[in-house]
Amino acid sequence: MTDPSTAVIVAIDGPAGSGKSSVAKQAAQRLGFDYLDTGAAYRALAWHALDQGADTSDPAAVVGASSDFDYAISLDAEQHWVRVGEIDVTDAIREPRVTDAVSGVARVPEVRSSLTTLFRELAAASERPGVIIEGRDITTVVAPDAPVRILLTASPEVRAARRSAEVTTQDAETVAAALHRRDASDSTVVDFMTAAPGVVVVDSTTLDFEQTVDAILEVVRTETGARNER
Ligand code: C5P
Repeated sequence: MTDPSTAVIVAIDGPAGSGKSSVAKQAAQRLGFDYLDTGAAYRALAWHALDQGADTSDPAAVVGASSDFDYAISLDAEQHWVRVGEIDVTDAIREPRVTDAVSGVARVPEVRSSLTTLFRELAAASERPGVIIEGRDITTVVAPDAPVRILLTASPEVRAARRSAEVTTQDAETVAAALHRRDASDSTVVDFMTAAPGVVVVDSTTLDFEQTVDAILEVVRTETGARNER
């Protein structure tokens, strides 16, 4: 077993549709690392707030709903799940109604600080050689001292096209409008469009999925000097 405190943190930020989640998950599998999807935690809280009938645009209602937020997430990149209480919400948190509500939840400072603490605890408890943590504020707030920090970007058009290929219940225009609205709202809370000093930018606009995974692994190798890929 690896000493938990020695897990290498790979921090990846980026906007919606940049391919972060699937790319980070695949890179984690290739490296034998844990994988922490922080957006899934914000989504699970949004799902819980909606389940409680809370108004997710009202910070006080969100703080109220978060007081009994019983949340669990798997760090296993091969078997990823999210639970609220006993309920498996892995698929439900991807529904458009949750996606539309999540920015309101994520802008509440109390929510951000308690989830940030939780993310650091989860990463510190990892028993694998490393953890890939992905989100919006990982390189700047959650793990600013991580040895590997990456901003994964893509052009707005490519991000909208990728997201609309994933969401089959809405037309492309609706998906694109929702994505740009969410990015605009999220950017007022955290700047994930420009790289902070020391953060490596990987632009996936002209890369396919495998090429993007390879680009991320290359940055991990360069930044850690490691050759730990499986
Ligand atoms: O990455 P994903 O699209 O699943 O994230 C869902 C939402 O969670 C984002 O739109 C944002 O509002 C919030 N989020 C955040 N900080 C993070 C990760 C996600 O505010 N580190």
